[in-house]
Amino acid sequence: MECPFCHHRIGYFSKAVNSLNQRARKCPACGKAFILKLNKKKYWAFAIPLLIVALTALQLLPPHWLNLPVAVGIVVGISMFFSLKPIEPEG
Ligand SMILES: [Zn+2]
Repeated sequence: MECPFCHHRIGYFSKAVNSLNQRARKCPACGKAFILKLNKKKYWAFAIPLLIVALTALQLLPPHWLNLPVAVGIVVGISMFFSLKPIEPEG
């Protein structure tokens, strides 16, 4: 993802992004605070192919290795994580 202020690239696994405290999310380059918002377009772009892969994997894997609700949960979680977009905090 990219900083909304200086366009510095911020890693998805960086401390700035993974901080539990919304207020502590700051760009490591310019130090400005940002908030994370779900990018719905990107979310579906991730979720649909992932879901197809997950459903295919379910057909190939032995039964009960991974069940459908768990697989869908994983897909939704991963897609949401990679669809987060840093934006300027309002107000
Ligand atoms: Zn920045």
